[in-house]
Amino acid sequence: MNPQDYIAEHIKNLPRSGIRDFFAIVSEMPQAISLGIGEPDFITPWKIREASIFALEKGKTSYTDNRGLLSLRKEISSYVSSFFGPEYDPQSEILVTVGVSEAIDIALRAILNPGDKVLYHEPCYVSYAPSVSLAFGEAIPVGTIPEQSFSLDPEAFEKAWEPGCKILLLNFPTNPTGGTADKQKLERLAKFAVAKDLIVISDEIYAELTYDGEHCSIVNLPGMKERTILLHGFSKGFAMTGFRVGFACGPDWLIEAMMKIHQYCMMCAPILSQEAAIEALRHGTEDVMRMREQYQKRRNFIVRRFNQMGLSCHLPRGSFYAFPNVLSLGMNEVDFCHRLLREQEVAVVPGTSFGPHGQGHVRASFSTSYDKLVEAADRMERFVESIHAETDNVSAVV
Ligand code: PLP
Repeated sequence: MNPQDYIAEHIKNLPRSGIRDFFAIVSEMPQAISLGIGEPDFITPWKIREASIFALEKGKTSYTDNRGLLSLRKEISSYVSSFFGPEYDPQSEILVTVGVSEAIDIALRAILNPGDKVLYHEPCYVSYAPSVSLAFGEAIPVGTIPEQSFSLDPEAFEKAWEPGCKILLLNFPTNPTGGTADKQKLERLAKFAVAKDLIVISDEIYAELTYDGEHCSIVNLPGMKERTILLHGFSKGFAMTGFRVGFACGPDWLIEAMMKIHQYCMMCAPILSQEAAIEALRHGTEDVMRMREQYQKRRNFIVRRFNQMGLSCHLPRGSFYAFPNVLSLGMNEVDFCHRLLREQEVAVVPGTSFGPHGQGHVRASFSTSYDKLVEAADRMERFVESIHAETDNVSAVV
């Protein structure tokens, strides 16, 4: 029996996540400081955890409505209208999912026919290209660049468009670059989406973690609500990764199509997590602001240190990732990460894990305590100095 004969072809061709392999190594190194993980270092605020415990005590251990608890959908509706702008009907235009991860998957599967194309900006979240190919679509990545702080470039999308494009997939603020999108650029992109009749999937999971200026969502622009699926969740802003809960808001016909998949593959998000999410939306905003303030301090610190050590780094306007360029050290991003881990026990992620446009960069997450971040910066500085010393020795010999 050859096991490979039993695995579907499109799964065989799916690459393993580079991040996973790298962190298998990190987990064996007790002294390592990891700036690699894309999750908050904060424990979920107590009142949110307590809501989940209380629900368990009351015996809430059942399935829920496939769409999610109506009480949660009502909270989502009012939170979304106050934070993002548009109003959604809790009965027909909101679906509670198992994280934004599930929402991305079922949105793509609900819309794409084999060969349909998806435009998205890159470097991007590791799951976008695999999710497109699992839905039998074709990925069309469009580069964002450091000279523009990896922000939205609508012209690049216009140039990359080709017949067969059906979806525009956006993520601002962006994982891994912290790039954001300003209103003017979004307006131009919205006109492009209408002109090319595209469905927009807007993953706004880092929306609350916007540091400079207000977060602006494409869904709030004219003509967009009727063609946009807004994805959001609790993992990042509310520090609730382990609860596995997110949601999609969109036109009823798109939500209904996603529901068809969700009801068979997932049934519903866990009820205890949904109860926690209700508390998060009702009373969690102050905690989110408190965590955001900490991230902002850490961001300012780590970006300054990267630039001081000669690794040019733009100021990320959102998310909790810095994305410095390491090419000045005369090595590529993968070698940088491996040597840094081996020699100074600091883990950062090669930019190419987020697509080829991440070349020359590494992702360093600042969702790590300030003290650890200081220690990591000192270690990285020692590493950079040692590389310069090596280079000086070589040139002296030559
Ligand atoms: N979207 C982006 C851009 C992310 O960075 C992540 C997680 O890192 C997700 C979605 C997945 O989020 P969730 O935990 O809600 O599934």
